Formats: sequence, structure tokens, C-alpha cells
Amino acid sequence: MRRSNVAIFVPHKGCPNQCSFCNQKEITGCDNEVTRDDVIAAVETSLRSAGYSKDSEIAFFGGSFTGIDREYMEMLLSTAYEYVSKGLFKGIRISTRPDYINQEILDILKKYGVTSIELGAQSMDDEVLEANKRGHTAQQVIDASDLIRENGFALGLQMMTGLYKSDDKKDIYTAQELALLQPDTIRIYPTIVLMYTDLAVLYLHSEYIPQSLEQAVDLCSDLLNFFDNMNIRVIRLGLHDSPSLKSKYLAGPYHPAFRELCESKRFVKRFLGTVSDIKDSDSQKSYIVEVNPCDISKAVGQKRSNLEYLSGLGYNIHFIQNPQIKAGDMKIKPVK
Ligand code: SF4
Repeated sequence: MRRSNVAIFVPHKGCPNQCSFCNQKEITGCDNEVTRDDVIAAVETSLRSAGYSKDSEIAFFGGSFTGIDREYMEMLLSTAYEYVSKGLFKGIRISTRPDYINQEILDILKKYGVTSIELGAQSMDDEVLEANKRGHTAQQVIDASDLIRENGFALGLQMMTGLYKSDDKKDIYTAQELALLQPDTIRIYPTIVLMYTDLAVLYLHSEYIPQSLEQAVDLCSDLLNFFDNMNIRVIRLGLHDSPSLKSKYLAGPYHPAFRELCESKRFVKRFLGTVSDIKDSDSQKSYIVEVNPCDISKAVGQKRSNLEYLSGLGYNIHFIQNPQIKAGDMKIKPVK
């Protein structure tokens, strides 16, 4: 059964920063202060849901969790820990900034059963970090990651693509640097322009041009491949769909099924990479491609986009679903 974590959003609490792209209240879709009762309600709902399992985590997301008022943070953690200590959940996951991590904070998190810490790294290029008013350096991402791992927590890292003053080369460099920190999980967010942000002003003055959806999908499909090859799980690709986010969206590569688009793109790239090695002049670019049934929609693409794209390149493809093929793999046979 699919594991279903409890996600509790703590919007913008304790964050004195105003990163160029951030309108945190809009991203979380919630700007009320989370109370003890809210935590209990979310956890109890999860306990009664079909997806509940003891392997689930209680996750505090949406702000710089370790930067919030200490008493308030401990109240949230101790409420969640009541359930963790009874063995009803595997642990607690939090997200925060690299400069809000130190040994004292990690000791508190340990005391309350926190098992996973996600850091918003966003970029490993100091100029990009500065241009986007992140207020921390790449070295602080490295130091915080090392400390988190040394203390036995699972490490998650978040990166963004297409930030102001970034480009594909810098985004790929960021991915490579993050991989060196050996995170357990990665989240990748293409930058989108939200209303009431510095980025919106830059965009409206034509000083910032966001990635197109095609550019973001192209780059992120490569990043997905890169992290897969490094055995690092990409647990999120693209922002969550929410009415609040949509209402503040101004520009940029937002798509509710962004990951699916990237997986489809990756499929096409793998296919083209493989057929370029097939030296069969008689094939006339006609192929039977066998894929696992769970991959068929990625292979065909949304609204048959892959089939149409490959057809435009002169390929005639016939997909067959074969449960014997491992998920993610494909078997390509030229048609004589
Ligand atoms: S640190 Fe996080 S919550 Fe604070 S402004 Fe930046 S992105 Fe938003």
C-alpha cells in the first residue's frame, strides 16, 4: 500500500528573509498560525485514512521550521512526538534553511523524534544565491548538510532551476554539488513568478525571463536522469497544484503534471539515444517498443506528444505493454 505522510504547513513562520521568488503564504495555501489542535486533527485524520501506515512520517513544511519561535516550535514537535513515541509514525520530517542549522538545534530535533531534515539549498552558485536574496552561501549548504548527516538524520535537499541570474550550466552544477553531499532525497522546483515578489517586479521590468515550460522540462528530465543514476531519489519535481498558487501565478514553467512531462521527455531522449546506436538501414525508422504497463503513458506522452514528436522526426513507433520489461526500461525492435 502507498505510504501517506501527514503534511502540516507552517507558512513563513520565523522567516526574516524575503527571497526573490517567495510568497510563502501563497505556496502553502495557508496563512493562519498552526495550532496544537491543527496538528492533532491532521494526524488523527491520517490515522483513519486508507493510506495510513506505521512507516508514515509527520512532516512540517512550508517555512523555515527551525527559525520559528523556539517555544512554538517545541510545542508543534512535542504534539507530533506524542504519536511517534507510541510507534504510530516512523518519525518527523521538517524543512528549513541551511543557516538555521547548528548542533543545539539538531539536539532539540533529536529529542522530539525528528528523523529527516530537508534543506532549501536552491542553488550552489553564490552569485545566484545573492541575486535571489537567499541570505546564505553555498558553503553553508555544505556545512549544514555535513552536520545533519553526522548527527544521523536523513538528509533531503531542495534545488530550483531557472532562478534569476542562473542558467542551465549553473543548475547542472548545482545538481552535481548537491549529489556530492549524498542526500537521501532531492526535490526540484522550476522557478515560477508569483505576484507580490521581487521576481515579479524584475519580470515586469523585463529584467528576468523565466524558463519556458519546454526549457524547464528539457533540463529537469536530464536532472532526473542524473539523480537516478546517482541512486538519489527525486521525491518531488515541480510545485504542488493548489488553487492559491494558481491565483498568484504570473509567469514561468508551471504545470500540474510537471514530473510526468519530464518522465515523458526522458523516455524520448532514451529512445533516441538507443536507436542512434542501432545500425539498421532497412528499418526505415519503424520500431516496436516494449515497455512495462506502468510506463505506457510516459512513453506515449501527454496527448500522444511523444508519438507525434517522434513521428515528426520520421519515426514510426508501435508501443507494446509487456509486464516482463522492468519499469523504466524499454526493449526496441526494428521493424523490417
Ligand atoms: S527562506 Fe524560505 S520561507 Fe523564507 S523567504 Fe526564503 S523561500 Fe521564503
